[in-house]
Amino acid sequence: MKAAPFAYVRPSSLSDAIAELASTGGGGKVIAGGQSLVPVLAMRLARPETLVDINAVAELDRFGTADGYLEIGATVRQRRVERDPVSATVPLLGMALPWVGHRELRSRGTVCGSLAHADPAAELPAVACCLNAELTVTGTGGARRVPAREFFSGAMTTALGPEDILTAVRFPVAGKGEGFGFAEIARRHGDFALAGVVARVRVRGTETDAQLTGFGVSDRPVTRSAAGELAAALRESGGEVSRLPGALSDPLTALAEELVDTDGDAHASRDYRRRLFRTLASRELSKAYERARRSAGEVDS
Ligand SMILES: Cc1cc2nc3c(=O)[nH]c(=O)nc-3n(C[C@H](O)[C@H](O)[C@H](O)COP(=O)(O)OP(=O)(O)OC[C@H]3O[C@@H](n4cnc5c(N)ncnc54)[C@H](O)[C@@H]3O)c2cc1C
Repeated sequence: MKAAPFAYVRPSSLSDAIAELASTGGGGKVIAGGQSLVPVLAMRLARPETLVDINAVAELDRFGTADGYLEIGATVRQRRVERDPVSATVPLLGMALPWVGHRELRSRGTVCGSLAHADPAAELPAVACCLNAELTVTGTGGARRVPAREFFSGAMTTALGPEDILTAVRFPVAGKGEGFGFAEIARRHGDFALAGVVARVRVRGTETDAQLTGFGVSDRPVTRSAAGELAAALRESGGEVSRLPGALSDPLTALAEELVDTDGDAHASRDYRRRLFRTLASRELSKAYERARRSAGEVDS
């Protein structure tokens, strides 16, 4: 099948891109890397009247750190983020990006495009939610910042209006005492996840904070505090890190039941996804805790 006919514009400034999108009265769509949109067009799952190509807008190519954040503009490719040393400031990006499709896809696909597309099993929306990244959404009324945890509202559904452009995303730079974990299970490498988890642990003195995000387990990435579960497991294991994954299994059972609410499909039942989530979460939370302690200087690295 071929795409239905559409008009194509390639503005060279953000204001022109916004004006072009607004002039379509809701019938236009942004195209960035085209890695998700082009297949959707080819299958005629969407029939936009106009494609607004943002790739010639130089101001959307921003990539670098400022004010404690790593900012990634709308045309920055996933592969560039994967390869650039500055991305080490946000370790979860380096952990998650190799799992996003294949290298060839990542050399065209953008970080912001993945967030805007909002596939519930995609890796980058889950990383954004775990870190509660800030998304900059720009439309005819100006720019607004949306926390990642408020951006995703359902499968392939976000806070973006039909005339909005996601102009950038800002991920908080990792600080001392923070540790991270990331894992997913997919049928083949490069496939979307059957279930995946992202973990962030922060150790400050006697206080420990833990956040867990699941993906591929609901209609959007789902994030909860796992600080209580981690504290219970630390008591149970007597603080012995090698016993932590086992000690987390029971406390995480209830969390898995709460978070994993997707219906079963041809690849995995809901129950199987719950078990996957619990197992991955136990391991990744343990690793994140250990890394956080190292980063805080509590154990030798
Ligand atoms: C075979 C295959 C396997 C894949 N596997 C994975 C995987 O394992 N994990 C994963 O996460 N992804 C996967 N993808 C998707 C891939 O990561 C895409 O690159 C990404 O989802 C979209 O990025 P893009 O820049 O190509 O966006 P596009 O395809 O250009 O756009 C996608 C959607 O987002 C909108 N959009 C894009 N940018 C903006 C913006 N700045 N503002 C507003 N709207 C915007 C478009 O209008 C469109 O609706 C796969 C794709 C393919 C074809």
